[in-house]
Amino acid sequence: MRIKINSIIGFFLLLIFPSVNSFAQKWALAIHSGAGNFTPKDLTPELEKQIRKKMEEALQKGKSILTNGGSSLDAVEEVIKILEDSPLFNAGKGAVFTHEGRNELDASVMDGKTLNAGAVAGVHDVKNPICAARAVMEKSEHVFLTGKGASAFAKEQNLEIVDSSYFYTKDRWDQLQKTLEKIKEKKKGTVGCVALDKFGNLAAGTSTGGMTNKKYGRIGDSPVIGAGTYANNKTCAVSCTGHGEYFIRNVIAYDVSALIEYSGKTLQAAADFVIQDKLTKLGGTGGLIAVDNKGNISFSFNTTGMFRGFFSSDGSTKVEFFK
Ligand code: ASP
Repeated sequence: MRIKINSIIGFFLLLIFPSVNSFAQKWALAIHSGAGNFTPKDLTPELEKQIRKKMEEALQKGKSILTNGGSSLDAVEEVIKILEDSPLFNAGKGAVFTHEGRNELDASVMDGKTLNAGAVAGVHDVKNPICAARAVMEKSEHVFLTGKGASAFAKEQNLEIVDSSYFYTKDRWDQLQKTLEKIKEKKKGTVGCVALDKFGNLAAGTSTGGMTNKKYGRIGDSPVIGAGTYANNKTCAVSCTGHGEYFIRNVIAYDVSALIEYSGKTLQAAADFVIQDKLTKLGGTGGLIAVDNKGNISFSFNTTGMFRGFFSSDGSTKVEFFK
């Protein structure tokens, strides 16, 4: 219904302002599913195929929402839901385990038009944390809810609640055991999406299980607005992945936007400066995806790999894993 109303409004706007047609019709979408120092050797051909297929499915979903006049927010939420529901990624089902052997999920979303934002952290029973983040943004007076309170709010909003065993996957359990035994693990898998819709509105979202073996209620950058996620129609939408502590300390996602707003950098120059220079100098690893209000898409990462993909209204699309 929301899509239909948007399409009708869009149609009339374009009749009234034909000169903005070409700009307003542009849309763009980018996704990531984690960055890390992995090489082709770390992925079996079968796993690579599965990840590619799921990322393509998510991109197709986003494309169909955006081409039908849906909002960038709807695209971000629906795309991330697909990735959360897949055990392949470190978000929703398939999230990593904490030191105590639990799953504690974080997610955030931001609307570039209104600068509204919503986030949840440390939830263990909400099937799709990204939906809870959006509900916080749209249905509460707050921006950031954690733990039990976030779950209680999600229940009140009739979001799907699951037993925490739903998030278990053997793969992630084994990953925790290896980490406890100090065997280096290269698997990542936080997911994120940024989108520009036909109406010039930007949105960004990020969802994660955090870092394997995290302790003491640790929260990373993914649910922190400005660190892991940021969107502003004036500039760009950004979603990050990597070692969260460094992304918080560098306020990475907002910094990309600020460089564009205050120093006039291009999207790619801003993204590269923040990741290749600032983050790298501080010793952090990871990357980001970004789209600006003109539909330019950028990726930047200082690891050997970042699972990433994009789709845009000029018909170009790609899913890539390595440098
Ligand atoms: N940034 C996430 C965190 O620190 C993890 C990741 O992106 O891999 O929680």
